[in-house]
Amino acid sequence: MGLKLEKVPYLIEMAKPVKHLSPYQATSSLEEIHDKPWQTPLKLDWNESSILPSPRVTESIKYFLAHDNHLNWYSTLNSSNLIHKLSEFYGLAPNQFLVSNGSDEALHTICATYLYEGDEVLVPSPTYQHFLVFAKQEGAVITEYHSKNPFSSDIEGLRLALQEKQYKICYLVSPNNPTGVCLEQDEVEILLETSPHTLFILDEAYAEFARKSAYPLVQQYANLIVTRTFSKAYALAGLRIGYVMAQSHIISNLSRVFNPKSVNVLGQIAAMAALSDQSYLMKFVEQVEASQAFLRGEFEKRGILSHPSKGNFMMIKVQQPKQLQLALAEEGVYVRDRAHLLEGYIRITLGTLDQSKDFISRFDRALEKINNK
Ligand SMILES: *Cc1c(COP(=O)(O)O)cnc(C)c1O
Repeated sequence: MGLKLEKVPYLIEMAKPVKHLSPYQATSSLEEIHDKPWQTPLKLDWNESSILPSPRVTESIKYFLAHDNHLNWYSTLNSSNLIHKLSEFYGLAPNQFLVSNGSDEALHTICATYLYEGDEVLVPSPTYQHFLVFAKQEGAVITEYHSKNPFSSDIEGLRLALQEKQYKICYLVSPNNPTGVCLEQDEVEILLETSPHTLFILDEAYAEFARKSAYPLVQQYANLIVTRTFSKAYALAGLRIGYVMAQSHIISNLSRVFNPKSVNVLGQIAAMAALSDQSYLMKFVEQVEASQAFLRGEFEKRGILSHPSKGNFMMIKVQQPKQLQLALAEEGVYVRDRAHLLEGYIRITLGTLDQSKDFISRFDRALEKINNK
């Protein structure tokens, strides 16, 4: 009471590695979309699913809220119910899974568990940018590997690059975001074999679209961690559910850092429901494939270079990526300018075939606008 507090003039210093980071720059925002209620948005910038999740998801959440509505309690620790379902689905033991608050949290946990200041990390580039934040935050030193052709897997180049230093971690994304390149299981295996002292993170956020995965390799290799998510093909980005598959000793190492309460109860329920509806998933995957075939044809007609992709997105090369992105946004189409990663490229998320037809007509209008400027 008698104590008078002075304003403290000192700025508290950030942790050293954090000083070199800058905040995430998003492109579209939901506010921006809500501000234009007259436009049906085509939100194709973040590789989210363009349709709602399986109806089973809403049903199971409604059922929970009506019957067992304990939102006041923490959810099932470690998502053990969901792990049980994943274990049946994949034929791996429950202790080979960790369920996380989005696969981003899995990547964060892996970095926090294995990386320390000065550790070397190899990242084939261009790649998913947010991983770099997690690795840098631990003070790791990142080496980017640039292949001559970013639209190839270039395993031999990567194998040689891995021999140059003692890399603690190598971060692979397959299918890769943003290039769409998918690694074969035997390609991953070559790297695991030839760099046994490097821990490989295989980020398979888009594996459902590729209809393939290298996850069976976790049974044989102690230097492999596979990360997956319900955010993309299962359409649950808003509920934040990801998971890790690895040998049990890796899972127990991650558990030292991991907070077993971090995954929310509705997300756990939703993920179980989504996993149970494989036919809904496959129908969407087929739509995305049809969209890619359609759009590649349309881009070819317009003389625009596009690349085949194993994910629900594709890269196209254009004259003025930034201007095109802005002109598309005026048409209610949100895409991602990736020109700072690969010159001239924008990345477009693929939705259903009907959405892609709608997309291409708005694309033409946007192109016309920038060509007339
Ligand atoms: C979208 C994405 C993620 C993040 O997924 P969440 O599970 O929503 O955290 C991780 N890795 C890659 C390559 C992605 O594209």
